[in-house]
Amino acid sequence: MTTKEEWIQKDLKYVWHPDTQMKQYEDSDFKPVLIERGEGIYLYDIDGNKYIDGVSSWWVNTLGHSNEKLNKVLTQQAEKIEHVLLADFTHIPAIELAERLIKLSGEPFSKVFYSDDGSTAVEVALKMAYQYWYQKGKPEKKYFVSMTESYHGDTLGSVSVGGIDIYKKIFNPLVFETLKVSAPYCYRCPQNKEQCKCSIDCIAEVESLFKHRHNEIAAMIVEPLVQGAAGMRMYPPQYLTKVRELCDRYDILLIDDEVAMAFGRTGKYFAFEYANIKPDIFCVAKGITAGYIPLAATITTDKIYNAFYDDFSTLKTFYHGHSFTGNPIACAVAVENLKIMEQENIIENLKPKITKLKQCLEKFRDLAHVGDIRQTGMIGALELVKNKETKEPYQFEDRIGHNVFKEALKNGALLRPIGNVIYFMPPYIIKNEEIEKLTKIAYNAIKIVTEKN
Ligand code: PMP
Repeated sequence: MTTKEEWIQKDLKYVWHPDTQMKQYEDSDFKPVLIERGEGIYLYDIDGNKYIDGVSSWWVNTLGHSNEKLNKVLTQQAEKIEHVLLADFTHIPAIELAERLIKLSGEPFSKVFYSDDGSTAVEVALKMAYQYWYQKGKPEKKYFVSMTESYHGDTLGSVSVGGIDIYKKIFNPLVFETLKVSAPYCYRCPQNKEQCKCSIDCIAEVESLFKHRHNEIAAMIVEPLVQGAAGMRMYPPQYLTKVRELCDRYDILLIDDEVAMAFGRTGKYFAFEYANIKPDIFCVAKGITAGYIPLAATITTDKIYNAFYDDFSTLKTFYHGHSFTGNPIACAVAVENLKIMEQENIIENLKPKITKLKQCLEKFRDLAHVGDIRQTGMIGALELVKNKETKEPYQFEDRIGHNVFKEALKNGALLRPIGNVIYFMPPYIIKNEEIEKLTKIAYNAIKIVTEKN
């Protein structure tokens, strides 16, 4: 029988892990954790050690691992039809899911375009927006506006609108030019305003850009309320409301990348609900299948759709389609996920958990190196700093986040950091006492690591 050590050796020999400096495994005693199974909020490694999945396995898992109802639907669908193309053919799970998505998102949304993951949902949105203007006779509207430190995926189109150096810098010669506005990063406000007490003055930068260049701008793309990959940086919904107003005033489309936020993560189905707005196009993925199988959707309105709707000969077709577009197993699981969310009142039941998370986050205030504590719905984040007064950041070489991760893992929690930000993004089925346990492990890990440093 192959031993655990042999599996790990084979892993290091054959698997190139994402976002990972593989040499690091060689140089340290830390090796990838070999997960064998999952149940609810827990992951179990091959030795039977269990870990609370504090980051929902990269923000995807909502209803727990190996969920009985989802497992059943998945196997039943596989026995009927595992995959079929979606051009000239269709199937009930794709139709049912699209109907549910349109009903959930409300007017004016009317059409669902499927793809495979968050990055492809964004690619679709960008191409759709540009082709819309092209077919409206305005091909010069070709620029996209996005925020500094934004993240919209790893494919070249989504990297183009991204703004995080580690994902983008090397590829600058390959990506298309975009326009950037300063992100509303409230803890380190670019305008030096006091957190939570401003009147969103940073919107002036967006307004000025739109005013001068609206004739060339196709769309602005945003991560709503939370810039996830930047380190769970959060901003008020009023910013989004103002962006919508400006997009309307200057005839610019608004693309809302809800890939990480949709389906309850913020405490509502969609983050745009907090801002009382509707984007022109929005992207969903991750939680759509409760984190089970890759699936994504780009959802839009008749205004956009009608610009593509014409005789075949006019060549207005949207020529975009992935092999696995609208995969039946993924769609069936997504339908079941949305049924469970409705029948089990999942969003309403998040309220006491969100309150519990808030209470638990407050306890971190007495730690000397926790600079900022932020929360949006079922996301809590702690920004660790060298000096609380000056907000002096830790340097990459300090490896603070990574060391907290290793310490927490030893104590049964998976808390994969983003740089020096430790965040909690557990599956929605987590219980209040488990939120306490998870945050306590993090508290102790941060205390130990920062005191040592
Ligand atoms: N958009 C946002 C806002 C994301 O957070 C992510 C992934 N973290 C993506 C797009 C890309 O999604 P995927 O990794 O599924 O391609």
